[in-house]
Amino acid sequence: MGKLRVEARGCTAPLIRSILPTEIEAEWQRFENALSRTETEITVLKQRVEELSGASEAAIFDAHLLFLRDRMIISRMRKEMPVRLQNIDSVYYAVVQNFMEAMRLVDDAYLRSRVADIGDVLQRVLKNLDTGGAKTRKNKPVSKDPCVLAAYDLAPSDTADLDSQNVLGFVTEAGSAISHTAILARSLGLPAVVAVPNLVMESRVGQPAILDGYNGVLILNPTQETCEHYKLLQAEKEKAYQALVDMKDLPAETRDGHRIHLACNVDFVHEYSAVKRSGADGVGLYRTEFFLLGGDGLPDEEAQYQHYRRLVEECAPQEVIFRTLDSGGDKLPFEVLEEKEDNPFLGWRGIRVSLSRPAIFKEQLRAILRASAHGKVGVMFPMVSGLTEVKDVQDILEECRRELRARGQAFDENMRVGIMIEVPSAAMMADVLARYVDFFSIGTNDLTQYTIAVDRVNYRVASMFRSTHPGVIRLIHKTIEAGIPTAICGEMGGDITLVPLLVGLGATELSVGTHLLPLIRFAIRHLNYEECREMAQLALQAEDSRTIRSLSKAVALRSYPNLFE
Ligand code: PEP
Ligand code: MG
Repeated sequence: MGKLRVEARGCTAPLIRSILPTEIEAEWQRFENALSRTETEITVLKQRVEELSGASEAAIFDAHLLFLRDRMIISRMRKEMPVRLQNIDSVYYAVVQNFMEAMRLVDDAYLRSRVADIGDVLQRVLKNLDTGGAKTRKNKPVSKDPCVLAAYDLAPSDTADLDSQNVLGFVTEAGSAISHTAILARSLGLPAVVAVPNLVMESRVGQPAILDGYNGVLILNPTQETCEHYKLLQAEKEKAYQALVDMKDLPAETRDGHRIHLACNVDFVHEYSAVKRSGADGVGLYRTEFFLLGGDGLPDEEAQYQHYRRLVEECAPQEVIFRTLDSGGDKLPFEVLEEKEDNPFLGWRGIRVSLSRPAIFKEQLRAILRASAHGKVGVMFPMVSGLTEVKDVQDILEECRRELRARGQAFDENMRVGIMIEVPSAAMMADVLARYVDFFSIGTNDLTQYTIAVDRVNYRVASMFRSTHPGVIRLIHKTIEAGIPTAICGEMGGDITLVPLLVGLGATELSVGTHLLPLIRFAIRHLNYEECREMAQLALQAEDSRTIRSLSKAVALRSYPNLFE
């Protein structure tokens, strides 16, 4: 519960500043000056391109000039200014963003392709409005009062940075519940709601808001009564959660004595202490990319070793599984590519990046190996699609072991080596891959995305993202059937509705966000393993995702109804 702070898309999103009605005219004057400056810039650019490449190439700038003075945009701004009472930068930004969104949806491919041009003009005008030294999002101030952040979209790197900015929770117009932005919100323990239509257009800075992450709802201008209701709910939820946390020393074991290894997913250093506090059986997934790519430049082997060692020592005697760099997709890029990838999720991502940069990959592997001298460590590789990659990484890993032996540096010769199963081809080949590695960890977020061809960050298809699709469930079954220890480390493992299904399919480990761990422990302790197995057999015969979800939910509701209250 708090006041809204609104941010729009892209690195040039202007800061929003409230203005008085008497300041409106001065803002329009500022806008007019920025338009004139932009007009001059575009005209000069047009002449230059005309000289270099001819008139037809330069024609695009005529469209830019037309858009600059677009009557529809200006008249919308005229309506918005007296209502919003905000600096003209942010009003222009909101109106143009909204227009761009509408353009993205039109049937005409040519019009759709013009969105980027409009974005260009927008950036130019904002830059020219900003010449007085106003701050852009790149050097945003830390807001003093805690706020609920409303944004068009947040990159995972923006999300990672939120903690330091007094943000109580966030809501975005784009995104999906399975995007890394949403996953990071869970790691940070921040309430978040995503894919809210018209959010930026309809929200106002300073508006009182309640973010209900349980139900995916943003309430603007709540009544006194609604506020009271939510305050009570918040107190109740906190009390119930604390009661679950207090059970941290009880084993994650079903009523009929079947033990599940319950570990947590860690993304940030500040979560280290929470691992111990949660009573987890170790770290099942440490996403190294946020540490590796989050600062200025890649840390070298020594810096990585110190960092990994700290986590290993903090968690000892429990095991920490480091996943090697998984850049690309919707995560931080490893290198700024000259040409943007059209399909980044199918592109230069995960193990493909590491294998094509062996020197950097080896620095990370040696650092992980060296950390294994200080506690129990495992390593696993993301986005593996088949055996060739497994053999390649094994060879490189062996080379690193030889180098460390030659240097006389200690490491655990028996460090466990695993792979993530998140590409359907790897799941299909699980029986073969199982001969080469010690364990599997199923990344259900990507496995679902790649199996049913639904982009995990595209809000237009977010409702189609179903991890209980029979195709996905059969691949999980096939992977587990290969017979080596198999964890579930995707978001599915932290869904109390689906725990009975995953346990029944035979997953030996669940690795979930630290905040979810107490709930999942409670769920496991109230299940009957035999009942879960029978239900999972039915699920494997089911024809659609809804049936599978209902089967698991029925067991969950019977076993721990209070978690659903
Ligand atoms: C997954 O894909 O399920 C997974 C755990 O990895 P990430 O979410 O980091 O891609
Ligand atoms: Mg993944």
